[in-house]
Amino acid sequence: MDGSNGSSTQHWLTLARHTPLGILCDLDGTLVPFARTPDEARPDAGAIDLVNTLAAQPGVTMAIVSGRPKAWLEAFFPSPHVFLVAEHGAARRGMGAWENVGEIDPAPLEELATRLELLAGRHPGALVERKQTTVALHYRQVQRGRRGELLVEAYGIIDTFVARNPAFERLEGVLVAEVRPASVKKSSAVPWVRELAGGSPRLLALGDDVTDEHMFRVVGPTDEPIVVRTTERRRTAARWELDDSNEVRAVLRWLHGVRAGQTPLPVVLPREINQREPVAALASRDLLVVSNRLPEFRPVEGDDGERKRSVGGLVSALEPALRSRGGMWLGWSGKTVPSSEPVTTGVSDQSDASGVQLAWVDYTESWYRDYYAGFCNGTLWPLFHSFPSRVEMSDAGWSAYREVHEAFADFAAPHTSSRATIWAHDYHLLLFAHVMRQRGHGGPMGHFLHIPFPSLDIFAMLPWAAQLMDALLDYDLLGFHTPQHVANFLACASALLPAKVSDDVVKHRGRETHVAAMPIGIIPDAFQEAPEPTVLEEIDGLMRILGDAKLVLGVDRLDYTKGIPERLHAFGRMLEMFPEWRGKVSLVQISVPSRADVPLYAEQRATIEAIVGRLNGEFGEAAWVPVRYLYRSYGKQQLSQLYRAAAVGYVTPLRDGMNLVAKEYVAAQDPEEPGVLMLSQFAGAAVEMQDAVLTNPYHIDGMARDLDRSLRMRRDERKARHAKLLATVERSNAVTWAESFLDALASCR
Ligand code: UDP
Repeated sequence: MDGSNGSSTQHWLTLARHTPLGILCDLDGTLVPFARTPDEARPDAGAIDLVNTLAAQPGVTMAIVSGRPKAWLEAFFPSPHVFLVAEHGAARRGMGAWENVGEIDPAPLEELATRLELLAGRHPGALVERKQTTVALHYRQVQRGRRGELLVEAYGIIDTFVARNPAFERLEGVLVAEVRPASVKKSSAVPWVRELAGGSPRLLALGDDVTDEHMFRVVGPTDEPIVVRTTERRRTAARWELDDSNEVRAVLRWLHGVRAGQTPLPVVLPREINQREPVAALASRDLLVVSNRLPEFRPVEGDDGERKRSVGGLVSALEPALRSRGGMWLGWSGKTVPSSEPVTTGVSDQSDASGVQLAWVDYTESWYRDYYAGFCNGTLWPLFHSFPSRVEMSDAGWSAYREVHEAFADFAAPHTSSRATIWAHDYHLLLFAHVMRQRGHGGPMGHFLHIPFPSLDIFAMLPWAAQLMDALLDYDLLGFHTPQHVANFLACASALLPAKVSDDVVKHRGRETHVAAMPIGIIPDAFQEAPEPTVLEEIDGLMRILGDAKLVLGVDRLDYTKGIPERLHAFGRMLEMFPEWRGKVSLVQISVPSRADVPLYAEQRATIEAIVGRLNGEFGEAAWVPVRYLYRSYGKQQLSQLYRAAAVGYVTPLRDGMNLVAKEYVAAQDPEEPGVLMLSQFAGAAVEMQDAVLTNPYHIDGMARDLDRSLRMRRDERKARHAKLLATVERSNAVTWAESFLDALASCR
């Protein structure tokens, strides 16, 4: 470690000799190394002695600026010469006496602390720390793979609390989530120490945590903010960096020596952070997620609403992993720019609050046409869903597909350490590992395909099949929803490339790619919460229109893969075969507008509307409308209510990677009076959900009989099937999915 080049040493000597000198030093992670629990992390005799010695030195104002409570700090630093700032600035001890900063009523925190303690009780290793004005949930000791589950619930509790108590805010520390008064920040310590020091002081501010960034931001131009890179690398307002508490102590000892008139050689000095380096550069332990769409983006005219929501599901799954590791999420902004203009990219400035930074690339109009609508949704989508007759292929599409990958990689490479973990998603980004390896990326890279992988005879229709396959093998891990998708992939690899293929590994060009089936799940709790009164009213209104008729519910994005016309035909067929159901059952079909600017989708819409009209004309009666067709989208709460009210969840895609609606329907049921899930055998979900009534959507008569059977099913059978399905949905959820993918990726190397 060498910070001792001439100019830098001179810089620090000048600071060390300056009088007055103010030192603001954080404790945990800065002067004191992290321990397993906050209780175990105590300043040792060496640290206490160093602080006392500096505090006693003429011309030095020594302040400990900590998140710890008053009494705790005082126990270690009783000397009145050491100035103390407790609970991130809520209280401070100047010349021997404590004073509170600002008026804070901590009463509301009681309930929050109790709720978090209950939660922590269920998660071994989790710990709640109550302080006078803050509450902290520590999860350093929670097993790595179990942190996600804890955080999903914890953030739910904390976010609800903060929404109701705006005087408080949530703060992400290093493996700790903390709630504290929004008005209190460590930054208030900076002018205070300046005043205590008197004259024209220079200040040295040392800290490791995001709370310390508040100090770094307000120091003056002649002051020196130093960040300690204990566990994570993030955007920082600091100008200098040190590696750990040993280096912090070494620098402070050297400083003391210089002021005492010795001329100690600097063993280590703070290193200047290269400001030309991209500020968002990711360290090797960090995670880069890449998907076509971002968690938050500006909607684009004519684009499908559904993709936003399905990405929403991905956000819930990945957020805990990104939060606990720190990372960046890169995707399309949702904005298109004229093809003649340069493509713009950007990075959000929100890593402080959420631990996740968003980065985006705009698409040119020709990319939108040839890449997004063209190669992604016109070629790969129908091909991978085994609808070869709907596939459109063009050289322009393939070339745009490669170009967009290059653009993503051009952005990602300089923003990512070459050892960072990368997780790319879906058919939009099959080449991403390839273009990143070309730019020297050596870290682990995984890909999850959210749609099916087709059989060889279908995949081989793609003129670029071998190239695509070759590029995919630059990933270390490829995740699919089902064992069948894995088998299809392996068969294609073996047929199209001179690769060595075994059950779960493909060896090619001296590289190994692991392949696994990892079905994605949902966050079941999101479909089990009590709805808000306005939501209840809206859904009650719809239910009143249906009267006493049993509800059969279909919910899909309007897509030809979803089998909506077949489903409607089967409903009509059931009314023919079992006329006793007439007047007693209604089908509500929600179709979320999707890719409405694509002619194929507009055609599908017209087909569906015509069938609905025909069925209602043929079977409808004055007091009963057989099919209610809703061409719109609903929020999660509305959907949960509809799911719960439906006697049958009618989920019959012709082909689907997974189908989350099936899982959501199960999660939303009343376990005492559950409805029946009727599920296409061609949905990926069918592999795990064998206790559904499985049906063949190509066989209209069969589907009609299955629907009749579902509607007649007795309560004990419904309960038994539902209990098994619910256990699966809860066990294999979105968070466990993300954790197991990342664990598998980590163990590939
Ligand atoms: N969805 C929604 N509002 C609606 C209809 C659907 O939020 O009105 C959501 C639904 O909750 C589910 C997603 O859209 O999470 C559809 O996912 P699925 O896997 O079933 O199908 P995809 O459209 O991704 O092919």
